[in-house]
Amino acid sequence: MLRFLDKYVDRSDFEYCEMDTDSAYMALAGPDFDSVIKPEMQEAYQHGLQGYCKPGLEIEADCLHHWFPRTCLSQHSKFDKRTPGLFKIEYEGDAMISLCSKTYIVAKKVTKITSNTVLTAASLLRRAKTLKPKRLQPKRRTYNETKFSSKGISKKTVTAPLTIFKQVLKTKRPGSGFNKGLRARNNTIYTYTQQRCGFSYFYCKRKVLADGRTTVPLDLILRPGREKCEDVTETQVSGDFSKNWDLEDENNVNILNALLEESL
Ligand SMILES: [Zn+2]
Ligand SMILES: [Zn+2]
Repeated sequence: MLRFLDKYVDRSDFEYCEMDTDSAYMALAGPDFDSVIKPEMQEAYQHGLQGYCKPGLEIEADCLHHWFPRTCLSQHSKFDKRTPGLFKIEYEGDAMISLCSKTYIVAKKVTKITSNTVLTAASLLRRAKTLKPKRLQPKRRTYNETKFSSKGISKKTVTAPLTIFKQVLKTKRPGSGFNKGLRARNNTIYTYTQQRCGFSYFYCKRKVLADGRTTVPLDLILRPGREKCEDVTETQVSGDFSKNWDLEDENNVNILNALLEESL
């Protein structure tokens, strides 16, 4: 990715926020990726997106002409999105908090207006309840849609992730979440709730400078310690449905686990 950026985007127009082996999140000095391409590179950039539209032509990531999936035709674009090595936009938002590796949140302001389907359903419901007919007005609702990553916490148990990330950033103290699941022991199934520190503040791979944002390589050698934060409480599942299940079979436990995850 850096090879592309260095050639096509001015260093003052982007800043890395979070990166992993196969992804990079960055802040851009423009509304979208296209807008921060250097003017003198626009033509080459657009050519890569639109200039290889031939039937049956399959492009490969070559770190030269082909960096992104083509945008010419939807069939080409769909095909290229499955080609390894090409960069795909994973998510776009307007705010991001990156606490440490694999622990980040991207938020996007979304405005939704009540759909006609919902309005129709609401008025049908009024009629069913024999309430007086009323002209219902569509409502405008603005909220934050978020995409987040946290280590070892079931996402479905987190109800307000943005609040947690903001809190950790402000207080510099790790936030914890819960992990729920099923566990087999002595031929009985137990549900467990495990508290885990999934929202760490401390970033240990590089040194964070005083601005809280810029990082430089570490000038010391660290020996990682263990985070001590695992309070496990167990409650027995009532009923005797467990008798029909072979609990030695890991598959069965996994199925139950997935079912419970779904219901959370
Ligand atoms: Zn095409
Ligand atoms: Zn090529």
